Amino acid sequence: LKSKLPHIGTTIFTRMSKLAEEHRALNLSQGFPEFDCSPDLQRLVDKYIRSGKNQYAPMAGVMPLREAIAKKTFELTGREYHPETEVTITSGATEALYVAITTVVNPGDEVIVFEPAYDSYVPAIELSGGIPVFVTLDPQYDSIDWQLVATKITKKTVAILVNTPHNPTGNVFTASDIQSLAKLAEDHNLYVISDEVYEHIIFDGRAHVSAASIPSLASRTFLCGSFGKTFHTTGWKLGYFLAPAALTAEFRKIHQFLVFSVVTPFQFAVAEYLSEPEHYLRLSDFYQQKRDLFLKAVEGIGFITKPSGGTFFQNLSYQNLSDENDVALAERLTREFKVASIPVSAFYSQTVDYKTLRFCFAKNDDTLLKGAEYLQGVI
Ligand code: PMP
Ligand code: GLN
Repeated sequence: LKSKLPHIGTTIFTRMSKLAEEHRALNLSQGFPEFDCSPDLQRLVDKYIRSGKNQYAPMAGVMPLREAIAKKTFELTGREYHPETEVTITSGATEALYVAITTVVNPGDEVIVFEPAYDSYVPAIELSGGIPVFVTLDPQYDSIDWQLVATKITKKTVAILVNTPHNPTGNVFTASDIQSLAKLAEDHNLYVISDEVYEHIIFDGRAHVSAASIPSLASRTFLCGSFGKTFHTTGWKLGYFLAPAALTAEFRKIHQFLVFSVVTPFQFAVAEYLSEPEHYLRLSDFYQQKRDLFLKAVEGIGFITKPSGGTFFQNLSYQNLSDENDVALAERLTREFKVASIPVSAFYSQTVDYKTLRFCFAKNDDTLLKGAEYLQGVI
C-alpha cells in the first residue's frame, strides 16, 4: 500500500493518554474534561432516545439545533446565519475542519497555517494536495505580526487557517487581530477557515472575537465550532459549521458523503440545552478558577508561565530547569512522576524544542493539585 500520509503516525493525544494509562499517571495530556456533563443534558438525551428520535437526522442536522446555533451566533456576533442554508451539524469540529479544508483546497493550493497548530489541519490540507505555508510562532508569543503573515501570501494561496482561543498556546485574538485578518483576506481574496471550538472558554475579561463578527470577513469564512468543549461532551463528537449559503452548498456536497448526518437524539438534546445561555456563559469563570488553581499550585517550581488567555490548556516552560527535550521529559514525567502532559513540539511541522509542556486543566481540583504536587522537585 502506498501511504497517503507517510510522515504521520498515531496522534500525540492518543499516545500520551495511552502512556498515562499504562503508567497509572494523572492524565493532564489529552484535552478532555475529567468531570461529567450536566445531568439535565443527560436526561434530555434520554428523553429523545425514548421518544423515538433514533433514525437518520436530516443531512445538514435537525432544525431545532440549527435554529438554536443561528440564534446564539446572532446574539453573540450580530451575524445572521440562515438555519436552512448556512448552518450544518457535523461530527465534531474535526469533521467540520476536514470538510472545510477539502472544500477549499485543490492540488497545488497553499494554505497559511500558524504553528504551533492543532494536529488535524496539516494532514487534511495535504490529503487534498495542498501545501501548508507556516507562520511559526514561539509558544509564548504575545501577538501576531500580520505584516509578516502578508509576506507568506503568494498567487497560489487560497486560504488562511486561524484558531482563537488557541490550542495549545491559550492566545486569543483581539479585535485588532480580527480586523487585520479581515483586511488581509480581502486584499488577497482568501478564504478563512476559523476554528473557534474554545469560543466560550476565555479569561481575564477578554471577549471572543469571532470571524463572524465582521461582515466582510464572515462572507469568506468557514467557521468551525464544537459542543464537546462547551458542554463537557467531547465523546459525543458533535460540532457545527457556519458559512454563507454558496460556500455551505459546496461544504455539504462533501459532508453528505463523508458522514451523511450525525447522531440524532444528541442533536435534539443539545438544541434544547442551548436555549439557556447560562449553560455556556458560565464556562469561562469555571475554567478560569481551574487555571488559577493550577498556576498557583505550580508556583515556585521554576517554570516560566504565561497565564492561558483561553482554552483549557496551560503551557509551562521549563527552560530554566532542564536541558531535556520536551518529548523525553513528557514521557519521563509520565513514567516516573505519574503526571502526563503534551510536548508542545508535537504542534510544529519542523523539529523544534521550546522546552514547553502543555497541561490540560479540565480536571477536578484535587487532580490538578495532585499533579502540581507530583511536579514539585521533579526537575
Ligand atoms: N480544534 C481544536 C483547536 C481542538 O482543540 C479540538 C479538540 N480536540 C478540535 C478542533 C476538535 O474538536 P472535536 O472534538 O469537536 O472534533
Ligand atoms: N483537542 C484535544 C487536545 O488538544 C485532543 C483531541 C484528540 O485527541 N483528537 O488535547
